[in-house]
Amino acid sequence: MEETPQRVLVVTPHPDDAEIWCGGTLARWIGQGAEVSYVVCTDGGKGTDKPGITAAELAAARDQEQMAAAEVLGVKEVVKLGYPDGELEDTGEFRKQLVREIRRLRPEVVMVTEPYVRSLVWHRDHRIAGQVALDAVFPYARDHLHFGELWSEEGLEPHKTGTILFWGTERADTFVDIGETMEVKLAAVQAHKSQVADHPEREVVDYVYQRARDAGTEAGCEYAEAFRRANFRTG
Ligand SMILES: [Zn+2]
Repeated sequence: MEETPQRVLVVTPHPDDAEIWCGGTLARWIGQGAEVSYVVCTDGGKGTDKPGITAAELAAARDQEQMAAAEVLGVKEVVKLGYPDGELEDTGEFRKQLVREIRRLRPEVVMVTEPYVRSLVWHRDHRIAGQVALDAVFPYARDHLHFGELWSEEGLEPHKTGTILFWGTERADTFVDIGETMEVKLAAVQAHKSQVADHPEREVVDYVYQRARDAGTEAGCEYAEAFRRANFRTG
């Protein structure tokens, strides 16, 4: 993807997904002047295999980690929906929350987890977030009779998003060269201390670099991030 969008909305199911899957792209675009906002859907409170910690304690830690990671990348705004980890559902309320943020932030590009073209090994929250974000972009945020109260009561006019980029896809058709932002991406991933602390640092570095190298091989550059793209008419 050559063009740099000016406004980007990232819908991340858990704290850390955005940095792992598109941190290099976000750092690159922010460096080129883009404004990036996050919607963090869940609190990440189940993301551990360690006994002796409660979901509330882990969620509090992960909130801090997410804010630190967003700061590393230069993300402008972080909206937290606060659903319990593992409990995302495809509901009208969740869809409305995403429509509200799309109409408020008016992104050209929405980035989210691939809900469909993906092996079965994929977190349920990732499937749900991708599916609901897709529906929120089109047609719910676009057509004013959906959630009309967002316009009449909150002043949020309908918005046409041009592009969704799905990460974690098995049918990537769009790549972003992240050769110049690999170090920033790595720092943002490492800000999620509760998620990386159990692994030797070398292992985390190798993981981040190897995945970027694999995507780069497909893209024809050294390091890349890979997405599946859906385009919508904006005219
Ligand atoms: Zn996740």
